[in-house]
Amino acid sequence: MLSSNLQLITIIVLILPIIAQSLLTALLLKEAGIKNVTILEYQDRVGGRVYTHYFTDDPNDDKRLYGEIGAMRLLYVDGRPDLTQDQLVFDTIDYLNEYNKVDNPEMEIKTIPFILSNPNALYYFNNKKDQNGKMMTKNYSTTANVSQLGYPDNIPDNYLSFYDEAFAPFFKELDQNFTNGLKALEHYDQHTVYSYLNEVFLPEKLPTKWNDYDEIIKAIETNLMGIG
Ligand SMILES: Cc1cc2nc3c(=O)[nH]c(=O)nc-3n(C[C@H](O)[C@H](O)[C@H](O)COP(=O)(O)OP(=O)(O)OC[C@H]3O[C@@H](n4cnc5c(N)ncnc54)[C@H](O)[C@@H]3O)c2cc1C
Repeated sequence: MLSSNLQLITIIVLILPIIAQSLLTALLLKEAGIKNVTILEYQDRVGGRVYTHYFTDDPNDDKRLYGEIGAMRLLYVDGRPDLTQDQLVFDTIDYLNEYNKVDNPEMEIKTIPFILSNPNALYYFNNKKDQNGKMMTKNYSTTANVSQLGYPDNIPDNYLSFYDEAFAPFFKELDQNFTNGLKALEHYDQHTVYSYLNEVFLPEKLPTKWNDYDEIIKAIETNLMGIG
């Protein structure tokens, strides 16, 4: 009785705003025998915030340039699925690849290593070049002193170590005992990275000499993450 009723129902999966989940939901419903599923998407392409922009139109040109305008990285911690926050996505990729083997092998989802940091990457900020007048590399920018990088003199030369120093205790606690680590984080839940550095860590680290930590944080974020 239940199955004959199900055949009569048109199920609409409204994508609001969960395209990746909706596509998977539709697939799972199909596997469960519910085939009459409609997905509503208001753009003229699928993918939502996952968006690869190709600079030429020829799909057969395997050397064509492309850029990831949206999501591009999945976090992977070697040998530690418990710390791999995107493990569920990796599991879903495995699941879909198994599925596609039978259905459509050309749809295999492949992952490639994401180079997060390259010591030879070119860096250009504050109009500064290296001592030979050439474009700085990341390696140079992390070893040069603050005046060579065009930062204000009152930024201490060891400013880059502050970031690790500020956050390493949280990572250590999470690694040793996840529940305690989470409690330690909850204590500062109202903070952003910026406000934690500005209001908690730096006033403790440099209590008397500085009263404006903004320049230090900008330097750290520019040099370490390229977002300052
Ligand atoms: C620049 C950028 C970089 C990112 N980098 C990463 C990264 O490296 N790693 C990572 O894990 N995450 C990253 N993210 C986040 C990641 O892209 C999103 O968390 C994820 O794509 C969200 O998926 P979603 O399916 O929930 O929503 P979305 O991808 O936003 O999909 C929502 C869909 O719903 C549709 N929709 C909305 N309203 C309606 C409506 N009324 N009717 C019909 N359809 C509608 C939209 O058109 C869209 O297709 C990045 C995001 C951005 C913007």
